[in-house]
Amino acid sequence: MIVAKFGGSSLQDAERIKHVCGIIKDLLVEKPVIVFSALGKSTDMLLDLASSALKGEFDLSEFISYHREVARQLGVDVEDEITPLFEDLEKLLGGVSLLREFSPRTKDYVQSFGERLSVRIITPYLVQQGIDARRFDGWEAGIVTNSLFNEAEVLDESYAGIRDALEPVLGNKVTPVVTGFISKDREGHITTLGRGGSDLTASLIGAALHVKEIQVWKDVDGILTTDPRLVSSARHVPIVSFEEASELAYFGAKVLHPLSIRPAMKTNIPVRIKNSYNRDHAGSLILAEISDQDKKKVKAITVKENVTLVDIVSMRMLGQYGFLAKVFEIFERHQTSVDMVATSEVSVSLTVDHNRRSEEGIAMVIDELVKFSRVSVEANKAIVSVICDINDSTEILAGAFSTLSKNGIPVEMISQGASKVNIGIVVSAENAHRALTLLHELFFPVELAA
Ligand code: ASP
Ligand code: MG
Repeated sequence: MIVAKFGGSSLQDAERIKHVCGIIKDLLVEKPVIVFSALGKSTDMLLDLASSALKGEFDLSEFISYHREVARQLGVDVEDEITPLFEDLEKLLGGVSLLREFSPRTKDYVQSFGERLSVRIITPYLVQQGIDARRFDGWEAGIVTNSLFNEAEVLDESYAGIRDALEPVLGNKVTPVVTGFISKDREGHITTLGRGGSDLTASLIGAALHVKEIQVWKDVDGILTTDPRLVSSARHVPIVSFEEASELAYFGAKVLHPLSIRPAMKTNIPVRIKNSYNRDHAGSLILAEISDQDKKKVKAITVKENVTLVDIVSMRMLGQYGFLAKVFEIFERHQTSVDMVATSEVSVSLTVDHNRRSEEGIAMVIDELVKFSRVSVEANKAIVSVICDINDSTEILAGAFSTLSKNGIPVEMISQGASKVNIGIVVSAENAHRALTLLHELFFPVELAA
């Protein structure tokens, strides 16, 4: 058995869906469970509609005609299935515009329409093409979450729930088609697993059913040494470990939802990233353990922008314990998460993500820190992360430093990540792109043609 998940970009129009249907046909021998995201960018469309509704006016026609047009081009008659959903959505957005209120719970309800529509349009098409497919909304497939709307956490009972729901179907040689991203809490309210959460759905189902492999079909050939839009000589990476993959995802590679591979990791199931636009390409394989031969000094380099650097120097705490604990307690209380840390006896430097959500938190943290320390805050930094085998870190650091210094790029802070596969280098935002390019050239030199 395998799980095969197809993201929005693989389902953006009828032509792509037909292509995906061909892929699924070839996977039938593997007894797949299929997970679908919303079509194309429909989750973004839904969120845009909700913000318009919040301002008092919204127009559903584009969203509706997009879905109807895809169904029409696929030649399936699903009006009875999708019209009630459009009507619900219309009512829901009407409520938002009337009340001028959009709670996290309502947001999940709104977002859920994307995935629900997608399986209702595509499953009948698969059936028409001779695949014995049956659709499941996330909750029908046994997935249950807590009530942390927008970023709901999956409850352990889901594992048994998934088996109970899907095993009988698989036993009858039927192919289950499950909505990614959405689920319900115990009270029956619709929840979502966070943006990009369909990967998590796939990994969860894979773990529950102990499948042979979880395939995540995207629009890229898998993991690359860096972002090809930033460095054109970026290369494909065939095999990475779970730890490397999580660091990559967290520090800026837009390949996988960082938390999404956790269930697969815990149960030791390989995750393969494949390109639905280039299906003959082997993709990238993520494994718990990788052989020595696949261990490369440097696997990949990522860049994370919008980072704020905070330097905290203790004024009174020299020789006293509890300084770090006190500092981190303040960050915790204001729910501001720290990415990188470097410490000495009397000071600590750390980085935080700068975004609209964290701005207020950072300000409150600083207010408290200045009461007992000297604090400097510098925005507009970037973290360049070198994903590597930490056994070689001395050599890698030496190389990175000499390259950056030769090119006049000051390093503002460095740190080795906790999972031991990541060296983080903080530079100013204006130097970030050049630092990335230089380090990529250093660790992945372009071989000159003879
Ligand atoms: N449709 C959701 C999103 O766009 C979930 C997913 O695609 O994984 O975030
Ligand atoms: Mg999506």
